[in-house]
Amino acid sequence: MWYRPLFSSKLCYCRKYYTWTNALRLHSYSKPLIGNSFSRSALLLSFKKMSVFTSQLNPITGKMEWELQPENYDFQQEVARSAYADMLHDKERNDKYYEGLRKSIADLRRRGQEVHVLDIGTGTGLLSMMAVACGADSVTACEAFYPMAECARKQIIKNCCADKVRLVAKRSTELEVGPGRDMERKANLLVAEVFDTELIGEGAVETYRHARDFLLTEDALLVPSEGTVYAQVVESKMLQRWNRLQPMKKSSVDGTDKDVLVSIPRSVEECPGAAAVHDLQLSQVPLKWFTPISKPLPVFWFDWSGRKRDIYCDETTRIKFQTQASGVCDAVLMWWDLRMDQDGEVMLSCAPYWAHPDVVDRPKRSSEDIPWRDHWMQAVYYLPQPYNVEEDKSLTLLSMHDEYSLWFNIQGDLSEEVCEDRPVCECGLHIVSSRTRLGQLNDPRRIKKYIQVLEKHITPGSICLTLGDSCLMAIAAAKLGARHVYVTEGPSTKKVMQEFIRVNNVQNKVTILPADISDISPEQLMAPVSIVFSEPFFTTSLLPWHSLYCWYMRNSGLHLIADGAVSLPCAVTIWGLPVQFRDLWKIRAPLHQCNGFKMDIFDNLIAKACEEADDKVEPQPLWEYPAKAKGHPVELLKIDLSTSIPDNPVSSSGSVTLPEAGIINGLALWVDWHMTKDLEDTFSTGPVEPVLLNQNVSWDVYTRQGIYLLKQHVNISDQEHKLFYSTIFQPNDGTIKFEFQIKV
Ligand code: SAH
Ligand code: ZN
Repeated sequence: MWYRPLFSSKLCYCRKYYTWTNALRLHSYSKPLIGNSFSRSALLLSFKKMSVFTSQLNPITGKMEWELQPENYDFQQEVARSAYADMLHDKERNDKYYEGLRKSIADLRRRGQEVHVLDIGTGTGLLSMMAVACGADSVTACEAFYPMAECARKQIIKNCCADKVRLVAKRSTELEVGPGRDMERKANLLVAEVFDTELIGEGAVETYRHARDFLLTEDALLVPSEGTVYAQVVESKMLQRWNRLQPMKKSSVDGTDKDVLVSIPRSVEECPGAAAVHDLQLSQVPLKWFTPISKPLPVFWFDWSGRKRDIYCDETTRIKFQTQASGVCDAVLMWWDLRMDQDGEVMLSCAPYWAHPDVVDRPKRSSEDIPWRDHWMQAVYYLPQPYNVEEDKSLTLLSMHDEYSLWFNIQGDLSEEVCEDRPVCECGLHIVSSRTRLGQLNDPRRIKKYIQVLEKHITPGSICLTLGDSCLMAIAAAKLGARHVYVTEGPSTKKVMQEFIRVNNVQNKVTILPADISDISPEQLMAPVSIVFSEPFFTTSLLPWHSLYCWYMRNSGLHLIADGAVSLPCAVTIWGLPVQFRDLWKIRAPLHQCNGFKMDIFDNLIAKACEEADDKVEPQPLWEYPAKAKGHPVELLKIDLSTSIPDNPVSSSGSVTLPEAGIINGLALWVDWHMTKDLEDTFSTGPVEPVLLNQNVSWDVYTRQGIYLLKQHVNISDQEHKLFYSTIFQPNDGTIKFEFQIKV
């Protein structure tokens, strides 16, 4: 459900990476804001030995370093921050597994067989307990992740299923079959929920191949029995913003080529992009963002028994389709469904609402018509090259998968050579930039604001210093007429920046400095810096305020900056908004029970881990998660960035009366960067339209905002309630702590 095989390159992008990273910040780098020895970290559990690795991006060499953690490594954070709770809140999933089990066990009984179940990846033990309730004679529940196996053991005892279930804390591929071993005999029913957004990303191919060969009888039934992957080719300039860099134009939106301020190197333009899946809530993507070029096409079919059809580790399929529109094939949208029983009466689909089989016939549909889930989303795969087509032409979609990932390509006619290899970034930019970051670099709203600010200040005599990762505003500043621009880049972003400098012909005007500018002496610059421009973004920024790092960076270069120099941004405001999340609250809410089985031990595990986490705020791309405003934005803390870093904490607290607006279950948090004191120069990472009470908020889609979930949902109806807030920024370690309380 939520961990990935070792060394999967998907880690760089997939949602869960950020979840882990956030959790691991507590373990591996507890100082998000200060110092320049930032590390990107990820947690990996080796499939083989259950060893724990954390990885760090060495800022000096730019290489990933893997570190084996001690055996008593605390996993609680990972469990708490994983999608586990949300998965168990997924009623449709639970019900359909239950139904699949019920039908399959009845089938086996009709055959006159005893029922011996294997539950691979039992998690909390839920599916094993369901099998017992459906009358299974015996169940072997295996779970590779030790802390969950422990939880399952206790939960199974609590639900009085222990006499029928044998728990084995092992990966299924290590199970031994035979009298006195892990499994007395081969199982004739396999239930497993080892799927992720990409279906096979959690290792389902190997898990099922091995089960067929070693753990199951020849006529075993499987729940689910089959899986189908669907793909739809689309044109989408909006989705491409997360993948392919566009030239930066001065009049950003509809400028002509003459307006191009920053050109893109060919290596970047022609790069096939990042191999990694872009997982997202497709039902939240506005329909106007894309034009379908194909219908949804079934591209892969997995028979999990491996008997009707082998389960391949590598596969290519070719599906012919008629184009529905002329345009550019930019990307492929992907989702899958599972056949839960043997005959296809119980289907579980992850399709977005506009393609969902349960609602596809309704004239009016919305994301609210289908069950919400976050543990399985949908995905976008960018084609290695955009492909131009006319309407009503015949094209072929090539779909490829290996053991863990999918990728796609388009073929016009059969004589055309098409690359079937997994796309790999060749330019470097996709390696060092997250999708969020690529989106920012393409975001007309940001670009416009930055250019507006630079234009106000740059004169022919300006010496600029730009801070940020892959900060293309350095090139823009040179083109806008600055005398010289110094840009700081770490070793991993330096090469790409050099390319940008070359193609934009500003070699004489732009100089790259190392990310640590404290060692640079003033003599190395042609004159003291008169404008410091920080683009508030760093590859290590998970929460919006992590980009305060630019302040620390600037502080380390004070000796290079002239008295009276202009500092952009000059201040930052942290905002909070009381909201009612339509669904997102489920990721931390206790379950109490699932389908009649007690879940208190699991609930306690999550609650304890959340309690121990000193960071109550986590990043989420809020445009994907509908939330209604239940008040007005509250200014929580304003920090003046024009000074040097203070010694003492900066804090603020207060209270506001909340309007009568129903349920509040959390707060959304973001920052406004005040580039100058002029209001029109403020750039917000929060709402992009005015916030209206009880209306859904429209968020900046190129930022992960912060969320703070209330333990108790509050209903504001008859009595007057107040929101009490307190925010403390500790300059010495760069942490920001939030406290919220809603009281009568
Ligand atoms: N079956 C539970 C949990 C599903 S989450 C439920 O439906 O609620 C998937 C779980 O499978 C994770 O806990 C993961 O650790 C485990 N897992 C995945 N592949 C496995 C394998 N091959 N052997 C054992 N456990 C596995
Ligand atoms: Zn690239």
